[in-house]
Amino acid sequence: MTQHVLVPLDASEQARKAFDWALEEFDDLSLTILHVVPPNDPGYLPGASVDKSPEDDDYAVAVAEEFLSDFVEEAENAGVEAEPVVVVGEPSREIVGYAEENDVDHVVMGSHGRTGATRVLFGSVAEDVTRRSPTPVTVVR
Ligand code: ATP
Ligand code: MN
Repeated sequence: MTQHVLVPLDASEQARKAFDWALEEFDDLSLTILHVVPPNDPGYLPGASVDKSPEDDDYAVAVAEEFLSDFVEEAENAGVEAEPVVVVGEPSREIVGYAEENDVDHVVMGSHGRTGATRVLFGSVAEDVTRRSPTPVTVVR
């Protein structure tokens, strides 16, 4: 049975490990990769060269699309079609909302992200999503 797996990606090593794990773990996989751009805090995404200026409202979205396109390519090389999704909003809320509205079977994510607050077991996004997601959540660490 095809599993619809959602991997929320920020620019952290942990999120990338979650992505790699999802590709390996599921045989019959329909993959969605999601980046949430927090409003008023475009955050940090590396390696983007987009044809817009940072003053444009949609600059952060364009950077995020560029960021996800590398993962789409990697998935394709592994024989998996990945659908990239970029939304603006509060990360955990958007991740859970996406899972609720799009027949997601499973969420796979890192326990920490780019701020890497190691004093706590989970980052705030991982904690909120594991609490509120309607699906099973795998936290890769
Ligand atoms: P905090 O954000 O509370 O300072 P943190 O950055 O260390 O903590 P989280 O943000 O909880 O940890 O990150 C855990 C996982 O959540 C990441 O590995 C990634 O899978 C996902 N994630 C975090 N932020 C986003 C985002 N903006 N868009 C998509 N996925 C995200
Ligand atoms: Mn974070």
